[in-house]
Amino acid sequence: MRSLLSILAMTVVLATSLTAAPATASATAADVNGDIRVAMSVVPGYWTQHWRELSTRAVRHPQVYYFRQGGSLVCDRQRVTISAFYCPGQHYIGYNWDVLARGHAQAPPSVYLILAHEWGHAVQAMAGLRSGAPELQADCLAAVALYGAARDGRLRFNQANVNQMAQVLTQYADRTPWTSARSHGSAAQRISAFTRGANSVQRGYGVRGCL
Ligand SMILES: [Zn+2]
Repeated sequence: MRSLLSILAMTVVLATSLTAAPATASATAADVNGDIRVAMSVVPGYWTQHWRELSTRAVRHPQVYYFRQGGSLVCDRQRVTISAFYCPGQHYIGYNWDVLARGHAQAPPSVYLILAHEWGHAVQAMAGLRSGAPELQADCLAAVALYGAARDGRLRFNQANVNQMAQVLTQYADRTPWTSARSHGSAAQRISAFTRGANSVQRGYGVRGCL
């Protein structure tokens, strides 16, 4: 784990500071919504700008919906209460606002990571990507969007922010290594997938490192 984290650390060459709010335990709803807004501008912006590197198909931004604690959204006629997800049937991203807000209070970059990961699933669907481990590929695609946006000068983040994103990957990892298409992979696998995307961008390969 420590070696993977240090690999992640080495990838940050553009680091200055995140344009988003600093880490604080007392983040207000406006801070959370501000970071959600920035993430949902920067990530789609990256994919739109770089889509031709990935696919000749059309890029169509997914809608983004949220629900509050105790609520749910409907995807393919089923009620969904997962903290954050991509609904392929209706091509939308859904998230539990309260879960994102709690994550934001601990680490504002978590909002960027989670939404970029779900956008990664939308990218998989739109480009028709086939992966044996789609959750790990979504982590890779998330890194490509965030590091790619940084490379394009549209987002700035520092080493502390990267460390926080690694912690979020660890927090949401499975306890066992990746086994099926639905599993997210172990913390080491998730960080490795994210690092692969970051390195791919910084070597000038863009999304190719995730394919
Ligand atoms: Zn996922």
